[in-house]
Amino acid sequence: TQTAETRPFEADVARLLHLMVHSVYSTPDVFLRELISNAADACEKLRQKGLTDPALLGDDPSLKIAIAVDPEAKRLTISDNGIGMTREELIENLGTMARSGTEKFRQALEEKDQGKALIGQFGVGFYSAFMVASEVLVESHAAGEGEAWAWRSDGSGEFTIEPARDAPARGTRVTLSLRDDHASYADEATIERLVKHHSAHVPVPITIETIGDDARRELVDGTALWAKPKSEISEEEYTEFYRFTAGAFDTPALTIHTHAEGRQEYTALLFVPEMAPFDLFDPDRKGRVKLYVRRIFITDDAPVMPAYLRFVRGLVDSEDLPLNLSREMLQTNPMLAQIRTAMTKRVLSELKKLADNTPETYAKVWDAFGPVLKEGLYEDAERRDEIYALSRFTSTKAPEGGRTLADYVADMKENQTAIFYAVGEDKERLAASPHLEGFAARDVEVLLLSDPVDAFWVRTALGYDGKPFTSVTQGSADLDKIAPVYKPNEPTPERAKDSDIATLSALVKQALEEKVSEVRTSSRLATSPACLVAPDMGYDRQMERIVSRHGK
Ligand code: ADP
Ligand code: MG
Repeated sequence: TQTAETRPFEADVARLLHLMVHSVYSTPDVFLRELISNAADACEKLRQKGLTDPALLGDDPSLKIAIAVDPEAKRLTISDNGIGMTREELIENLGTMARSGTEKFRQALEEKDQGKALIGQFGVGFYSAFMVASEVLVESHAAGEGEAWAWRSDGSGEFTIEPARDAPARGTRVTLSLRDDHASYADEATIERLVKHHSAHVPVPITIETIGDDARRELVDGTALWAKPKSEISEEEYTEFYRFTAGAFDTPALTIHTHAEGRQEYTALLFVPEMAPFDLFDPDRKGRVKLYVRRIFITDDAPVMPAYLRFVRGLVDSEDLPLNLSREMLQTNPMLAQIRTAMTKRVLSELKKLADNTPETYAKVWDAFGPVLKEGLYEDAERRDEIYALSRFTSTKAPEGGRTLADYVADMKENQTAIFYAVGEDKERLAASPHLEGFAARDVEVLLLSDPVDAFWVRTALGYDGKPFTSVTQGSADLDKIAPVYKPNEPTPERAKDSDIATLSALVKQALEEKVSEVRTSSRLATSPACLVAPDMGYDRQMERIVSRHGK
């Protein structure tokens, strides 16, 4: 017989466990939500695999979650007859931080105050069990596999793995030996309250029993929330469901629950969060909208939102799609493409309504996701106008942000034909740039763009309302046509003689030689004597910096 093998957690995890137990959650209650969500995922994965491989379901086709409490032993068990985990999967999935961004998570924890705010955005899943348990035992029997395995840890840095003696016939059983101060989680009434609170609409039935007392009863019947009529769902239920499916802690800024009938029939339940998750800028830019077909889970990342709406969470449940959709088919299926078009339109229009009716809430959405939404300005030309209408800016007239392009245009000066902007990494530095002096002297507003994405869309955008976007550092930012605004008791400055200007320019050019391509006079400065500008046709200065950083 094999003896138990002991392995360390991935280095970061041990530290994370400690930090998490002591600081992540305001209430440890969330561990139950995390474990039930894993069990439900496991059931849904098996249900889906069973479509093509019915043998996996064997003689136990009804997927379910069973909770057992043992107050005397201070034990809580959560079992599912889902997909289960092999030995390798136990090591891989429970021994390393499951979600990407471990490093970012650690940084967030270390950033003290700011970290506190960020922490709430991480879903730490399985590890949250250690907030209440002194030991966690995971016994698992992967569907279709011969052997079952037991994973055990006290969360202090190591786990053991060995063959399981008493594993479930299929699926996973998670047993928590509760710490004394958390013994109340072995109480049926406590668990019932928590499950009804945040897992009431899990699409898998949940039962509970107290060990030693034979009655097993149903807590959740497995009816999916989205299948219920809107009128029967409270705002709180939507919020809890959002937190459950998205692994989130905030309140959605927007909830869209809609049923389409016509060319095809489907239900969508989509949420726009209020807070950005830590991996918003992950390079793969994947969406997180789940796809169901007739209540059966198909995938976590259905292509039903464009990349610039990847912060949208929730699900789409189709009545018409085939159940055996492969990955490739997902990408090319015309019905899904149609759902995507309809849902993109819907999300943008709901965001617009939110912006019009509840600007304070919308401001939070924009702060969290504006930089992502702006990707749509160059990726989705067809919806550019809608995205413009949602865009908010910081400008010389609105240092706190919240400025719309419509505001800007309404405030344009006589003879002003362009929308002027400055791009850079830092708003304060931008605002202090000498490039803006001439604009200030004419009371011309300048948009201050400091998100990395700004340098891209602003160059490809064709303009707004017929007005081109023009950089203040680009040579063509011609201000001559706009009259300066002088304060009444300030004398109008005298213009230097043309010959003097020509001599000075020549001297400066001589002194700087190859370092500059041209020296010329400009109306863009008011108090500073000189500034650097980019040539009319070349890259904007910020773009130049980005390009050189990428070594092109
Ligand atoms: P997440 O659910 O976000 O992936 P978790 O930390 O909650 O992160 O879980 C890590 C991984 O462990 C899951 O992705 C899954 O592969 C596996 N897992 C956890 N619980 C179960 C379970 N009950 N059955 C099967 N696999 C599980
Ligand atoms: Mg999980």
